[in-house]
Amino acid sequence: METFAPTERTTLKRLAKRGNFDRHVVYGILDEAFICHVGFIVEGRPVVIPTAYGRVGDRFYLHGSAANRMLRTAETGVDICVTVTLVDGLVLARSAFHHSINYRSVVIFGRALVVEDSREKFEALRSFTQHVVPNRWSDVREPTDSELKATIVLYLELMEVSAKVRTGPPIDDEEDYAMPVWAGEIPLRLVAGVPIPDPRLAEGIDPPQYVSDYSRTVPDGDPT
Ligand SMILES: Cc1cc2nc3c(=O)[nH]c(=O)nc-3n(C[C@H](O)[C@H](O)[C@H](O)COP(=O)(O)OP(=O)(O)OC[C@H]3O[C@@H](n4cnc5c(N)ncnc54)[C@H](O)[C@@H]3O)c2cc1C
Repeated sequence: METFAPTERTTLKRLAKRGNFDRHVVYGILDEAFICHVGFIVEGRPVVIPTAYGRVGDRFYLHGSAANRMLRTAETGVDICVTVTLVDGLVLARSAFHHSINYRSVVIFGRALVVEDSREKFEALRSFTQHVVPNRWSDVREPTDSELKATIVLYLELMEVSAKVRTGPPIDDEEDYAMPVWAGEIPLRLVAGVPIPDPRLAEGIDPPQYVSDYSRTVPDGDPT
């Protein structure tokens, strides 16, 4: 399906025209970002934890130490809510009230399941590494059996999902447009700095191109 079907939980209320259920748009955001926030209830209280993720097709993967509270809670099958946010710019209006942010964000609802299949677990871990640093996996030592055992991998089927996108200039009250105050957008981007070699790096190893040219460019949001 090209679009996610809106549910009661994913129906946008305020500024609903900024909502987007297009799978291509959602996956474009998920593939450009690599940090999500996972919300869940522990002992009756909400907790939100930032963490990395991967995506393969319609599966959204979370991973971490087998002792991780967030993963331990999620694997019991409770409802979780995951958000992913990309900030594209600060929107400076003529009034304080109409200041805004240009963004692309995704909200995912679901229940996580443990990846039991060892092949899928391995592939999920590969997808994390590739997601954060494309081309890295083929250069590094693969996880050992004990490292795999110490790691828990959960997946969420991407079914109940919404995106919201704001673009463009401020939207001021008509009478404010004549004000002698600068208004517009300050674009913001996540930009890689110059790579810093590990002090213990063996001599004669140059950074590979995927390191020296690292950027979070927008992949194509391929739904496969
Ligand atoms: C970087 C950033 C900054 C923001 N700053 C503000 C702010 O300062 N004040 C403010 O009021 N709003 C802000 N928003 C928008 C905010 O995320 C909500 O969209 C807004 O609070 C409207 O909520 P609601 O009560 O209409 O809907 P809710 O009842 O909260 O949401 C209903 C459903 O709509 C979907 N939904 C809502 N928001 C989003 C979203 N952002 N992305 C994807 N799906 C969504 C979800 O599926 C959600 O379950 C910001 C968003 C981003 C990404």
